[in-house]
Amino acid sequence: MIYFSIIIAVIICYSLFQRRRKNGSLTQITLTDAQKKLLNQHIDYYNKLSDTDKLYFEDRIEQFLDAVRIEGVGLEITDTDRLMVASSAVIPIFAFRDWTYRNVTNVLLYPDTFDKQFQFEGNEGEGRNIMGMVGTGYMNGQMILSRKALIKGFSKNNGKENTGIHEFVHLLDKVDGATDGIPEGFLPHEYIEPWVRMMHQEIHKIEAGHSDIDAYATTNEAEFFAVVSEYFFEKPEQFQTKHPELYEMLSRIFGQKPA
Ligand SMILES: [Zn+2]
Repeated sequence: MIYFSIIIAVIICYSLFQRRRKNGSLTQITLTDAQKKLLNQHIDYYNKLSDTDKLYFEDRIEQFLDAVRIEGVGLEITDTDRLMVASSAVIPIFAFRDWTYRNVTNVLLYPDTFDKQFQFEGNEGEGRNIMGMVGTGYMNGQMILSRKALIKGFSKNNGKENTGIHEFVHLLDKVDGATDGIPEGFLPHEYIEPWVRMMHQEIHKIEAGHSDIDAYATTNEAEFFAVVSEYFFEKPEQFQTKHPELYEMLSRIFGQKPA
């Protein structure tokens, strides 16, 4: 009996060791080849990464799926849905090596846009249907996403919108306690004033019809930050050409130069 237990223990240790070696970290979820193929098929950002960074991206996806529950409301969620949610989370934080979202535990996917029925902020309700929300108050830790909007964000020729990335950028913004468009933990102090000035200048340009940034960005600073971040990750070259200063500032915030 003792021998038997030792053998079992050795097998468990060995398989844990193998797993740790393979992923560089210990996760319960390991992506299958089929799931990696889905990443290749649907996630442009992943496609453009080097082989080493692809492995690292997969590792981050596994960690996210380990930590956050993704549930469908009135729908069966697929592997593609899960991978799109996880990619939306990983893309903005890809440069922050050991960073994890501590302010989300659940993501609920609704089939289409939905009504405002909970206590939320950053709800995309004014001026357009609600496609995503980050919970506050008793809904803290919850995110709701429209599956239709999520998929649209990762479809080819989608333009500069990505609802999934938008909502996770709200969570980054929220880390310092305020969803206010100023991600204080991610921007050196001396850049905060220039960033606020830059936001206000661009909001005026959008209002005057002199900008190609979605008018939803004029709602408030938090929405501005989330909307320009979508553009930054979805159409980096175009964003850099048309908005070089904003591009520089977002590169600083996210620690990435996607163009
Ligand atoms: Zn928003």
